[in-house]
Amino acid sequence: CGIVGYLGFRDAYPVLIKGLKRLEYRGYDSAGVAIFDGTDIQLSKTKGKVSDLEARANIEIKNNGTMGLGHTRWATHGVPNDVNSHPHYSNSGNLIMIHNGIIENYQSLKKELIKRGYTFKSDTDTEVLVNLIEDIQIKEKHKLGKAVQIALNQVVGAYAIAVFDKTKPNEIVVAKLGSPLAIGVGENEFFIASDASPFIEYTKNAIYLEDEEMAIIRREKGIKVRKIVDDSLIDPYIQELQL
Ligand code: GLU
Repeated sequence: CGIVGYLGFRDAYPVLIKGLKRLEYRGYDSAGVAIFDGTDIQLSKTKGKVSDLEARANIEIKNNGTMGLGHTRWATHGVPNDVNSHPHYSNSGNLIMIHNGIIENYQSLKKELIKRGYTFKSDTDTEVLVNLIEDIQIKEKHKLGKAVQIALNQVVGAYAIAVFDKTKPNEIVVAKLGSPLAIGVGENEFFIASDASPFIEYTKNAIYLEDEEMAIIRREKGIKVRKIVDDSLIDPYIQELQL
């Protein structure tokens, strides 16, 4: 399983597809991408190989976008099928998220969300987390980063996640506990991936998030890393990758 993301000036789709191919060695049963053109999110996902995703995305992804997420799934909650593939939307359609790992307490969180009127399309633990983030964002009027942080403090499990909000077109929030997450820091562009192989051809500068850290990545403004548990700001170590 693997995650990739891009925020910059290039056409995101080829960067993400190539990145997913580099992560194929990690194993997976489904794949998906979401491309954001600043107005609309275009989603394409399928059970099967990255090559199956490409065949589908060639038809479904119509507009270029300079921001996007990609995922290869190793199913843990819900069978491998198109609907359970990532990325997953929140109920409003504003948030979209990819996730590697397991949310162990997803059932009790899901029950609460159903009581609050949320509905679910998939059987995944991931769709519960993206809606928990949305619920906190709406209920407590928090920014996305804060809502992610509050949600993750309610979660038991392991994750590498990347999520963005369609109403905030220049920002991706990522977080990690247990599953790997690297950020490639280019000039006016940022890459997200499970390891550096998807972005090494674009930049040699990488931040490897530690467990229980999150990062808010903003176009032009750069990266802020914080501890999930107490919100403290971290000065990230930017590592120079060797070929
Ligand atoms: N638990 C999530 C799912 O079953 C993510 C699995 C993964 O790590 O790919 O959809």
